[in-house]
Amino acid sequence: MAKPNKKMPEKTVSISCAKCKAKLYKYKKGGTGSLIKCFQERITQDFTAQKGVCPECNTIFAREAIIRGVPALKMIGNKVQVK
Ligand SMILES: [Zn+2]
Repeated sequence: MAKPNKKMPEKTVSISCAKCKAKLYKYKKGGTGSLIKCFQERITQDFTAQKGVCPECNTIFAREAIIRGVPALKMIGNKVQVK
């Protein structure tokens, strides 16, 4: 069985809106591959006014969810860019 990783991931990525390129979050992302969900405790900088909504073009890019008891955001496919 895999142990849950308690350590914060080292890598910080910038999440931006795929439509208008506005900055949304700085996020400590674990592992590789595409971003499917964001744990809210790993967001280091939040540029949004409302959770999951782009502050510039009002695109809804994520929905709030609880994943394994932890507040998270489920990203909606292709609404965000990760660098
Ligand atoms: Zn936008």
